[in-house]
Amino acid sequence: MDEGFKGLLKRLKVKVTSRRLAVLEAMASEGVFLSAEQIWKKARERVKNAGLPTVYRILEELVEGGVVARIQGNPQLYYYCSNGRHHHHFVCVSCGKVEDVDLCLIDVLEREVSERIKGTLLSHSIELGGLCRRCTEQGASR
Ligand SMILES: [Zn+2]
Ligand SMILES: [Zn+2]
Ligand SMILES: [Zn+2]
Repeated sequence: MDEGFKGLLKRLKVKVTSRRLAVLEAMASEGVFLSAEQIWKKARERVKNAGLPTVYRILEELVEGGVVARIQGNPQLYYYCSNGRHHHHFVCVSCGKVEDVDLCLIDVLEREVSERIKGTLLSHSIELGGLCRRCTEQGASR
């Protein structure tokens, strides 16, 4: 796994450091959206002197690089995703499971919004929340 993340950091043109690797691995090992503090606690087990501000800085870098998704909120939540194509994330509100959704209405949206604001739409974010298949089935049988 280290090898893959090293390659990823090189692709983002940032230095391969144990802190950056620890942050990526902390996220990848969980597979759910985590707060910076949760990531920091996990990364700290591996890199003793990694401070919370450092973790924030690394996370921002990874968000800008397009390999980490962020959900705005208090706290903000982060999720590492290796899917390089444009997509969105469905998050189960019950168990936290994250699923990639390769579906986007951006083409339609872009045209509509640009028309209405008489300008150009540059970015968008969509939050998809609900119950995953397992939680839906468990809820139905309860
Ligand atoms: Zn679920
Ligand atoms: Zn994804
Ligand atoms: Zn989209």
